[in-house]
Amino acid sequence: MQCVTSTAFGPAELLHRLRTRGTAAEVSPITHIERVPPRAGQAAPWPGWTEPAVRDAFTAQRIIAPWKHQAAAATLAWEGTHVVLATGTASGKSLAYQLPALSALARDPKATVLYLSPTKALAADQLRAVARLGLDGVRPATFDGDTPREEREWVRQHSRFVLTNPDMLHHSMLPGHARWGVFLRRLSYVVIDECHTYRGVFGSHVAHVLRRLRRAAARYGSSPTFILASATSGDPAGAASRLTGLEVTEVTEDTSPRGGVTFALWEPPLLPASSVSLPSDTSDFADIELPPIRRSALRETADLLTDAVVAGTRTLAFVRSRRGAEVVASMTRRSLDEAVPGLGDRVAAYRAGYLREDRRAIERSLLSGELLGLASTNALELGVDLVGLDAVLICGYPGTRASLWQQAGRAGRAGGEALAVLIARDDPLDTYLVHHPEAVFGRPVEATVLDPANPYVLGPQLCCAASEAPLTDADLELFGGEAAVAAVHALAGEGVLRRRPSGWYWTHRGRPDVDLRGTGGAPVAVVESSTGRLLGTVDNGSSHVMLHTGAVYLHQGVSYVVDELDLDDAIALVHQQEPDWTTHARDVTNLSVVNVRSYVDAGPVGLFLGEVDVTNQVVSYQRRRIGTGEVIDTKPLDLPVRELRTVAVWFTISPEALVAAGVEPADFPGALHAAEHAGIGLLPLIATCDRWDIGGLSTANHADTEAPTVFVYDGHPGGAGFAERAYGVAADWLRATREAIAACVCEAGCPACVQSPKCGNGNNPLDKHAAVKVLDTVLAALPPS
Ligand SMILES: [Zn+2]
Ligand SMILES: [Zn+2]
Repeated sequence: MQCVTSTAFGPAELLHRLRTRGTAAEVSPITHIERVPPRAGQAAPWPGWTEPAVRDAFTAQRIIAPWKHQAAAATLAWEGTHVVLATGTASGKSLAYQLPALSALARDPKATVLYLSPTKALAADQLRAVARLGLDGVRPATFDGDTPREEREWVRQHSRFVLTNPDMLHHSMLPGHARWGVFLRRLSYVVIDECHTYRGVFGSHVAHVLRRLRRAAARYGSSPTFILASATSGDPAGAASRLTGLEVTEVTEDTSPRGGVTFALWEPPLLPASSVSLPSDTSDFADIELPPIRRSALRETADLLTDAVVAGTRTLAFVRSRRGAEVVASMTRRSLDEAVPGLGDRVAAYRAGYLREDRRAIERSLLSGELLGLASTNALELGVDLVGLDAVLICGYPGTRASLWQQAGRAGRAGGEALAVLIARDDPLDTYLVHHPEAVFGRPVEATVLDPANPYVLGPQLCCAASEAPLTDADLELFGGEAAVAAVHALAGEGVLRRRPSGWYWTHRGRPDVDLRGTGGAPVAVVESSTGRLLGTVDNGSSHVMLHTGAVYLHQGVSYVVDELDLDDAIALVHQQEPDWTTHARDVTNLSVVNVRSYVDAGPVGLFLGEVDVTNQVVSYQRRRIGTGEVIDTKPLDLPVRELRTVAVWFTISPEALVAAGVEPADFPGALHAAEHAGIGLLPLIATCDRWDIGGLSTANHADTEAPTVFVYDGHPGGAGFAERAYGVAADWLRATREAIAACVCEAGCPACVQSPKCGNGNNPLDKHAAVKVLDTVLAALPPS
């Protein structure tokens, strides 16, 4: 084996090498370097209420004392205050809930604890951690889809620390609450781990599942204390309160020790001018996607990983897709082998779904220094304990600051110095962030957004609740007050619920069929024709765009082509194929305003929040050559019109103000369209959404507003809280949007500023310079957020 000593270079040397490499180019790709200083830990004594057996179990694990924030959160919980602990990765959030929960179990030999995690892997890790403490009579056990039927009875009867997930609670434990009566009666704590993952429609459903849990517990005579653990985020107490429906106190000061981190923001260099020019044989600019103007983030990441391995720095690269991770690993291996034959063997790809044994093997080779580089999807983000890394490369902003810090937090062995690099992709948000370090390193502003009042979530959840036990007036208060009262009356009108003196009853025999991850319509199953294998599901709302006949569909990095989309049976038949084209659905969207909930009248500019009806029809798709974006052909599709009632934020500007700002009427459509795209691209900066969760429409003259208007709406029936959040901080959001467009060096718009991968109009027309003028006009008029 080639010998590269793993101590030859540390993160500082690696950064130095990268910087020198950077300065060779005209403009350094490093746009910012942030130094996060090391922090000494602040220990606290074990709280006086800690049960000696529990303290001894921790000290046997070499935990000599808790950190201050652990003790603070634990004591609040012990005193019966609902608490959310929102601190960084590896800050020891587990101890903060284990301490009061296990002390309660030790003090009262009948008490029980329920632990909820978003993933089975995390629940399994937590189970091992609790079991390792070896406390008598706790009998921790997981209860999930994998638990054999014969074990379930044992868990119900004997475990006092049950680890499960919201789906299991929703589908099994709550409907079968009678069998869990004893467990629920003694329930002292409910622990909700990684609670920031409950967002959007899913989060809104989980919020009601938790209210159902609280109701069931109360029915059996308990009112457990909730302990929530969250990644750092904006307003953790507010988000935890919306999630649980309870008043929650936050603990956010992280007092755990941390090694210093040098965090670099990296924008891939521009490609040489020759490779930017359009193919000369295309006369129709409108129908071609502009080729990228910068080196791809994947290639850049592979180069950095190569440098890191050559320097002997143990490095993990996070890549958003599995295929991307494989590409980075193989490019890195190839260039390493070219430099030193055999060196490529010291780089591996790491996938979701690896067995625990495989993961352990990779961790061991990383620790021993046999393996120096890893490329992974974000599978590693939650609950997998990988240590021994010096540097982390993050290929593309992972969507939220919580994920960014979680990924960056992977670097740093035993408190040593670490390096993290965020490599920007061609995307408005990434572009904005590498030029606005304060948005990455300043106080987090993005909040976990969910909306339990969404009628499309509330109605089905009230049915679930009613099928578990009739709904009383007090229950309706718990489920949202007025909105819940209106919803039960509507459901009674449909004959789904019936009012009796003792409450509202579910009238059907079976249980309501409610999917926590969707609203409206069964998810579409993606099935491989030749084998009958179920590859996955796509939510009904996205199925027309993603799974129309002829669409190229990616599943875990493997490419498939759709043979047929059968909407009646909610099934898409596909076959594996790697064509050299991509497909882009074209659609027609109409939007009408149903009502205005709130508005700001700012002279020539108006800002609104309200309900809208959106009709959308996918009418055709284009096949485009991979690499050049050249349009091969456009094929018609025969898909029905879809209707969506949802929540939107929109702004209007008077035509006079636009002309005064230097936008000609003929340029209104391109200006508004470009502002709409960039606005959607930047929304994840302020709300924990994905750009695919939201839609937009812009028009030079809308029938309902009678003015040039840009609408941005939640892509889920009833809304998920994203538009509402955008309305609340509109000035911040639109200022960031303006900056992102203005800072982009492209001539006429590119994927890093105003082009959108999901545009139903083929990114036409778009006018980035006029979009800046539109946003300047809006920002000059709007009061600050
Ligand atoms: Zn651009
Ligand atoms: Zn568009």
